[in-house]
Amino acid sequence: MDDQFSTFVYTKHENKLAVGKIIDIGNGKLTVEILNSMCAVEVNYNEVYPTEADQEKDVDDHCALMYLNEATLLQNCKRRYQRKLIYTYLAHILVSVNPYEVITDLYSLDNIRKYKNKSLGVLPPHVFAIADKAHRDMRRLNCSQAIVISGESGAGKTESQKHILRFYCENFGQLVIIEQRILEANPILEAFGNAKTTRNSNSSRFGKFFDVCGGFVEHYLLEKSRIISSNPKERNYHIFYYLLASQELHDDLHIYGDVQNFQYLKSGDSLSDEDIMNFKKQLENLIQALDRIGFSSKQRNDIFKVIAGILHLGNVNFEETKVNARGCEISNVSEQSLDYAAELLGLDSDELSINLTTRIMTTTKRGGGTVYSICLKPSEAENSKNSLTKAIYSRLFDEIVAAINRSIPFGDSVNYIGILDIAGFEYFEVNSFEQFCINYANEKMQHFFNERILKSEQQIYSEDSLEVGQVLYSDNLDCIELFESTNGLLNILDEESRLPKPTHNHFTETVHARLKNHPRLLIPRKSARKENRSLRDSDGFVVRHYADEVTYQSAQFLGKNHDTLHDSLFNLMHHTSNDLLKSLFTSNENSMPNKPSSTNLFKSRSVSHKFRSQLDLLLKKLRETQTHFVRCFKPNQDQVLENFEEFFVLKQLNAAGMPSVLSLMQAGYPSRLVFNELYAKYKPYISEIKELQRLDPRIFCQCLFKSLGFNDCDYKFGLTKVFFRAGKFAAFDQLLKQD
Ligand code: ATP
Ligand code: MG
Repeated sequence: MDDQFSTFVYTKHENKLAVGKIIDIGNGKLTVEILNSMCAVEVNYNEVYPTEADQEKDVDDHCALMYLNEATLLQNCKRRYQRKLIYTYLAHILVSVNPYEVITDLYSLDNIRKYKNKSLGVLPPHVFAIADKAHRDMRRLNCSQAIVISGESGAGKTESQKHILRFYCENFGQLVIIEQRILEANPILEAFGNAKTTRNSNSSRFGKFFDVCGGFVEHYLLEKSRIISSNPKERNYHIFYYLLASQELHDDLHIYGDVQNFQYLKSGDSLSDEDIMNFKKQLENLIQALDRIGFSSKQRNDIFKVIAGILHLGNVNFEETKVNARGCEISNVSEQSLDYAAELLGLDSDELSINLTTRIMTTTKRGGGTVYSICLKPSEAENSKNSLTKAIYSRLFDEIVAAINRSIPFGDSVNYIGILDIAGFEYFEVNSFEQFCINYANEKMQHFFNERILKSEQQIYSEDSLEVGQVLYSDNLDCIELFESTNGLLNILDEESRLPKPTHNHFTETVHARLKNHPRLLIPRKSARKENRSLRDSDGFVVRHYADEVTYQSAQFLGKNHDTLHDSLFNLMHHTSNDLLKSLFTSNENSMPNKPSSTNLFKSRSVSHKFRSQLDLLLKKLRETQTHFVRCFKPNQDQVLENFEEFFVLKQLNAAGMPSVLSLMQAGYPSRLVFNELYAKYKPYISEIKELQRLDPRIFCQCLFKSLGFNDCDYKFGLTKVFFRAGKFAAFDQLLKQD
């Protein structure tokens, strides 16, 4: 049965996946004749993917296809995308391709109602179907649920999450208040946590986990470096521009002119008239949302003052002092900015100036240390200033999330539905600490994903009393171990920060020395990547992630991992008359990595250490849930509609760990049909054999398969369903319809 199809393959040809036929099998190479082109290409064995002859066919569930591999998954998604069917299932995983356009009725109230209480697969694939399944499973199994949404920047994670929230809000009365509050929280979270990037004009620069029934938002790893500068064509957080666009606030906040007047904004993209109009509108929405979640107008003004204060502080520059050979002073031209910053942050201008340009140090000695003041060099003062603005902003963000949580009524449900919206695996030309953290998180999520998919497959088999042998899948535990073991990357990084004079070169050398034999670690110039040739080995290290090799440049790792405020600035924040600002610095979470006392080690948590603890908690939580996965993909890099760049999507399929799912499915019984459904669906095709039609559905299926010449190992009978080996359902369907 197979032979008539298996000669068709997909292979790369002229930068596309082309269909061809294998015409020669050579030593290590195959010759493929490309269909309709009269040309033949020689390719490696691993560059061809078997496919069916029918090039027009697309299916709701990818497992219904004859061949399960990356190329057929890609083509199935592409054909559907071209028909504006952006969702496809791969078993129970929802694959979503960003359409970059509003698809009529896809998210209408009608559709929201239609998907309520429908089993997966009854209606076309949809994010609503996943939301409904999670809700039904919570009730049916009395167990918490999680919906994990992942994908690269701009793939549609946050949009999916909003659709899920709306689905719950519209369909389930008892949850309405909580969901409504969470929906209202969105404009606030986006104002302070989203920014325009080259990949997404409304990019979430933090991860979040919404507990829908308990009414709680957890956030992860806000990108702090964006506060002090952004790339050309990108921007700082939206809130800065809202304030810049609004004339009513200008006098109070001393904000005039355009982005060019502010150092923290001028490296980024400028504003068009249309942007200004939009931002004004969004500021109005933000004010209403802040109001609704219970911020008083005084608190709101305090927030705006802090944001404007950060902008003015950004404009404060330092120059060498004439009096003191080492120290620095505030440059004449930025005195006005200093005064504005001090006024808005509720500080005394002289005190602010002193604490920006000097630093109080205490020597640790038994019986009390000596306190002395050190003058900072201009570059050191600039760094301290930037640390201060980053600390203020990130603490403000924490407080805003906390306020949102306080405003959401506490759900009394024992079980919950959590929605996780977290950045997927990423790598760019230059990868720094942010990518290091996010990719570490993705290794852990990938491990969890594999574990869950495997478990849910086994559960499906055991529910139907089906004996299926051990199914193997690729494992990435060794990569997690590379990060987490005692001698792993995270510990080496923290250890380096505790040295008296930490340097990134020493950090990198330690990584190389201790981990050079680890199969997941490479030294840049020994890696296969072309772009690494220009790097010196001491510039970084390469990790062989499950998705791809990534070269990390370690130059800024130490600074970003210990984004600390020196004590003088930290203490200064207690003197502010801005109540909000004061409240941000009451907890003593200022990290002081250089202090050698062991108690301090515990207290001073590095960014990566904190992130690791958060991740552990998140995974612990996820492991207690039943999990549903939504994998989002971008069709192209230009954010345009109707353009499906195959290899760009293929790369994302790999990064999302799809190959391991496909091989898992391939090794098991990925197509399943309930006897009754199969009976009802295929009865009409065999109308001439009346005896067969009268049989009980289960016996009907058995007789049918025998009469079609199916091999016993092509399928298995469970209690309620027939389970087909990969491709066998497609073959069956095709045979029956042809006959
Ligand atoms: P980031 O990681 O940068 O936050 P993201 O995955 O959250 O990215 P979104 O902000 O959800 O990406 O989506 C980016 C843009 O793509 C949206 O602003 C919207 O224009 C478009 N988009 C996403 N999903 C859909 C959809 N289902 N229908 C129509 N447009 C969509
Ligand atoms: Mg987002």
